[in-house]
Amino acid sequence: MPQSVEKILDHGPLFREPEYQEMFARKKACDGAASIDATALQSEYTRGWDYREKNFAREALVINPAKACQPLGAVFAAAGFEKTMSFVHGSQGCAAYFRSHLSRHFKEPCTAVSSSMTEDAAVFGGLNNMIDGLANCYSLYQPKMIAVSTTCMAEVIGDDLHGFIGNAKAKGSVPEDFDVPFAHTPSFVGSHIDGYDNAIRGILEHFWKDNPASAGSSETINIVPGFDGFCVGNNRELGRMLGLMGVSYTFIGDAADQFDTPSDGEYRMYDGGTTIDELKAAKGAKATVALQHWNSRKTLEYAASVGQETASFNYPLGVKATDDLLMKVSALSGKAIPEALRLERGRLVDAMADSQAYLHGKRYAIFGDPDFVKAMARFILETGGEPVHCLSTNGGKEWAEDMQKLFDGSPFGKDCKAYAQKDLWHLRSLLFTEPVDFLIGNSHGKYLERDTGTPLIRLTFPIFDRHHHHRFPVIGYQGGLRVLTTILDKLFDKLDAETNIAGETDISFDLTR
Ligand code: SF4
Repeated sequence: MPQSVEKILDHGPLFREPEYQEMFARKKACDGAASIDATALQSEYTRGWDYREKNFAREALVINPAKACQPLGAVFAAAGFEKTMSFVHGSQGCAAYFRSHLSRHFKEPCTAVSSSMTEDAAVFGGLNNMIDGLANCYSLYQPKMIAVSTTCMAEVIGDDLHGFIGNAKAKGSVPEDFDVPFAHTPSFVGSHIDGYDNAIRGILEHFWKDNPASAGSSETINIVPGFDGFCVGNNRELGRMLGLMGVSYTFIGDAADQFDTPSDGEYRMYDGGTTIDELKAAKGAKATVALQHWNSRKTLEYAASVGQETASFNYPLGVKATDDLLMKVSALSGKAIPEALRLERGRLVDAMADSQAYLHGKRYAIFGDPDFVKAMARFILETGGEPVHCLSTNGGKEWAEDMQKLFDGSPFGKDCKAYAQKDLWHLRSLLFTEPVDFLIGNSHGKYLERDTGTPLIRLTFPIFDRHHHHRFPVIGYQGGLRVLTTILDKLFDKLDAETNIAGETDISFDLTR
């Protein structure tokens, strides 16, 4: 074999070595794989309108959905609270998947434990796993809070978290007064954004239920960020803007520090996050504001039920979206928007105007969570571009109607369409039959990029194959500048690639763009 101590090969060159090539060829023959010609013929057929109609008529099959399951959102939500251990009641493999999914994006460890349910628990129920699991978690990892969610196995057999946690406390797994908020997060409905919403609501209910504080007794505003893979950059940026305004605020879940621990010789299993005292005091806030509407519906419903004013946004990315958020916060807090932020706004508008000649009329496909897709489409319209295909697997009918209103409000929106509950195989058909200039989404779009030739711009979770994007904000005016630059970099790279053939196209291979 080509691998040796003296010559360690990365898997790229390693698998191109003759030994592996031969092995792949034998495997292919053994599998009875179709010939290259037959595959190419079929691939060609799947690029046309005829196949697109068949593809969109499919009902009982989902191919490559752009979403994850509920407990992933609950694990992310738990990471936003001080010294909180996420406890997944169900299979160990599910918890490993959530941890690796988040670690691969943030390039940081993600802590979570599971109750390790196996066949016997699936038949007799997972009570004993909960009793032992909570006891082990409490003594091994010394958290201040354990946030429990469920996988599909626990939900299919109908385990009752409230009863189980009560039983575990009675058996002494954790002290009676130890905080164990919980949320049922069945994976067979909704997606990670619902799991996030259920978990945040569960945590608020736990700390607010018998809490005598009355809404409006403090000047503070609660901010619910939503499931946000860019929380590291975004939460800090929003905190900076609110600091400039002099607004008193509490993040209901802030995972920025947990997913951005420094390398300074100290391992931090827990870092940062909203404290239990802050959570309790948050009941007295005058309002709860959600940065992502579709991520926070149940949480906002609960905040309203305790008497708080509520407001929600669709990911404040771009000029108007940031204006709307700041004006609402200003109205709620009575604090003026300072000159420094007004200048930042002007600089973003100036940058957009500087690049207008390149951005105008560009056509885009966008996929991801419903709030992100709306935010991105809204920003593209602001740049004079056309968000032609907007697809969200976890967006519903109401989301699609809301998107249509956005398109109707802009002259650039007339040929745009929102596709709710469609997957990335649907998007493939759209990209082949109605091509666009750029695809905006996450790393899962790289196969569409390769297949359809549409350049991919990575701007949302998960980003596995590029590093550190999440450390920089995409919301607010500063975030808008970063998004603008990211789009322009891809645009100019494409333009350079199209104009670099010597003697043929390079008359336009310009130094100055
Ligand atoms: S869908 Fe169910 S089995 Fe799969 S990771 Fe999610 S909880 Fe686990």
